[in-house]
Amino acid sequence: MKVTMITGDGIGEEIAQSAMDVIDASGADIAWDIVRAGEAVYEETGVLIPDKVYESLEQNKVALKAPMTTPIGKGFRSVNVSLRKKYDLYANIRPVQSIGALETLFEKLDLVLFRENTEDLYAGIEEKISEDEMRSIKVITRKSSERIIRRAFAYAKENNRSSVTVVTKANIMKLSDGLFLDIAREIAAEFPTIEFKEILVDNMAMQLVINPYQFDVVVTENLYGDILSDEMAGLIGGLGLVPGANIGDEMAIFEAVHGSAPDIAGKNLANPTAIILGGCMMLDYLDKTKESNNIRHALDVVLSSPENFTHDLKGTATTSQFTRAVIEQVQQQ
Ligand code: NAD
Repeated sequence: MKVTMITGDGIGEEIAQSAMDVIDASGADIAWDIVRAGEAVYEETGVLIPDKVYESLEQNKVALKAPMTTPIGKGFRSVNVSLRKKYDLYANIRPVQSIGALETLFEKLDLVLFRENTEDLYAGIEEKISEDEMRSIKVITRKSSERIIRRAFAYAKENNRSSVTVVTKANIMKLSDGLFLDIAREIAAEFPTIEFKEILVDNMAMQLVINPYQFDVVVTENLYGDILSDEMAGLIGGLGLVPGANIGDEMAIFEAVHGSAPDIAGKNLANPTAIILGGCMMLDYLDKTKESNNIRHALDVVLSSPENFTHDLKGTATTSQFTRAVIEQVQQQ
């Protein structure tokens, strides 16, 4: 099976290689079509996303993507946002699950965040009124809201999850967030066996650090989802552990939730767990669940021994030592 691998910036290449090595060791039989995008490519060629990336994606329809740096304030749209918009990858799914024996704020946590991925303040509609006034327009449509909320409920039903919580700020953004909330109420009525909860985003941010176990599946708009998923990652040990899927009707791109971590790039310090778990989500999508379960179990075992902890987990293992440990475990199982 051929899939696209987009290697990125910063720690991107190191962790992309780690993910490919682990997936290859699982025997999943993936042929990697490796392409590059991001800031480093831009500096070499003047193009952030070369045509080769689009061609590969359109041919393979499935990709694993390493993080990329978005140059700030130079009029660039992020590679991630561009790909999500271009291919209408409307569902951003981020499972936040405790792993191994890490010392974390909470144990045995299992949340799944569904984030709308194509509109909200990410729609890219910005206007300069004057040198001293800029505006960004928030876009919420029935079509995009319906499909992400429906997907969250369908996931909850298929996976025997107990509740779906919708997060908005509908008390203030009465029209835009009001529409999102109204649609959530309509769809909730179609799923009477699943408990439906509503919460405002500021309260959600606090409840998550007080008692995250009260949540199960969470569905929200683009910007709130971006922020809350980083917060959720913090509850289980940090950004190095949480994967994400960007799924549309015809294409799916899997990734780590975190960015290119320029502060530790090129130092063999990055934790590749998140992108490896992104690879597991990709294998599930390709119906290679035997291999994905094998890798997940290996990660759980490896992350149960402090000698394998990377620097973000207060350990001393390098990216390559960690990767070797996971590969050995995958091959033993
Ligand atoms: P970041 O996620 O790159 O890093 C935040 C902090 O977490 C840093 O201290 C970093 O060292 C640490 N960290 C992140 N991933 C880690 C890992 N796998 N192992 C160990 N430590 C890890 O966020 P940032 O610094 O705000 O952003 C850097 C760049 O990444 C920006 O240009 C941003 O636009 C971009 N970004 C890209 C994506 C993506 O490509 N999907 C997502 C978010 C941010």
